[in-house]
Amino acid sequence: MARPRRASPVPPPGGGTRGPAAPVPRSRWLGLLLAGVVGSAAAQYRGPLFDAHLHYNVEACGHAAAATTTTECPHPLPDVLDRLQRNGVRAIVANSRPNDGTRALAQAGEQARAAGVAVVPFVRLYRDRADYNNWFRDPSILDMVNTELARGTPAGPYRGLGEFHLYDSGNADGPVARQLMALADRKDLAILAHVDDVAVEKLMGHTPSKGQSTRLIWAHTGIGGSSVARVDALFARFPRLHGELSYRPGLTCGEGTLCPEWRALLLKYPDRFLIGSDTWVNQRWLQYDGLMQGYRAWLGTLPPEVAKKIAWDNGAALFGLTEPSPR
Ligand SMILES: [Zn+2]
Repeated sequence: MARPRRASPVPPPGGGTRGPAAPVPRSRWLGLLLAGVVGSAAAQYRGPLFDAHLHYNVEACGHAAAATTTTECPHPLPDVLDRLQRNGVRAIVANSRPNDGTRALAQAGEQARAAGVAVVPFVRLYRDRADYNNWFRDPSILDMVNTELARGTPAGPYRGLGEFHLYDSGNADGPVARQLMALADRKDLAILAHVDDVAVEKLMGHTPSKGQSTRLIWAHTGIGGSSVARVDALFARFPRLHGELSYRPGLTCGEGTLCPEWRALLLKYPDRFLIGSDTWVNQRWLQYDGLMQGYRAWLGTLPPEVAKKIAWDNGAALFGLTEPSPR
């Protein structure tokens, strides 16, 4: 069954971060080339990537020990690490349904080090799909989160909570949502939230700092298409709000090209954006190379220091990671 946030498990075509775009007429190519906005191979960003939105869910094989067939385990750990390594992904925010997948990545130790990948583990709020629509009022989720936090991971303590979803922003006021936001501030945990702009305000309002010290990574930066002006206003109001850019409508205008208003926003807040794969279905693992190439293409059209921030530095700064050694 498809996750309720999207009607189809097939990611929409056309965006630079979502696979090949439709062919561009020759005359238009010439215009784009003259304007210097085509992300050519030469202009691609070539530095390290921080994937700030990665799931290693049960369908992919996040429960490796139980899997015995390739149907049960289409993406075993070596496959996942190979995809990260060959794309220059040097750190990931790992969060999985259930948390076993994150644990498998955190446990990879030597294998992950060999692949040059740092794992930043988050507690996911979902044991199964039923939890998507009830977590914000289900006290057993709070218990599960506290148990996971106490347990930690082989890669160290959990660094955040999420990804969680709110399809109705009113549910940001649910009792468990309130408690988790307060917990995040208290324990200095980051949040990864797939919500709309109204819910961002509500969630921030439930923290002791009223969102002034809350590290909230806004998954997709408003998948419903919050306007650039609205994103700008929220960024101005909440200094540690970050925008993760997978699936963001209106971000790219053709392959390797940022739409003008998004380009301007990225340049206005170079310290606040992140890239992510959102491997929410196995198809996204199959597309992983293309997704990262798509990011590298439009990152390459930005000033190099801004590209590096969005690709790596901002995620590294959020979690205190050091610069990876070149490979
Ligand atoms: Zn996700």
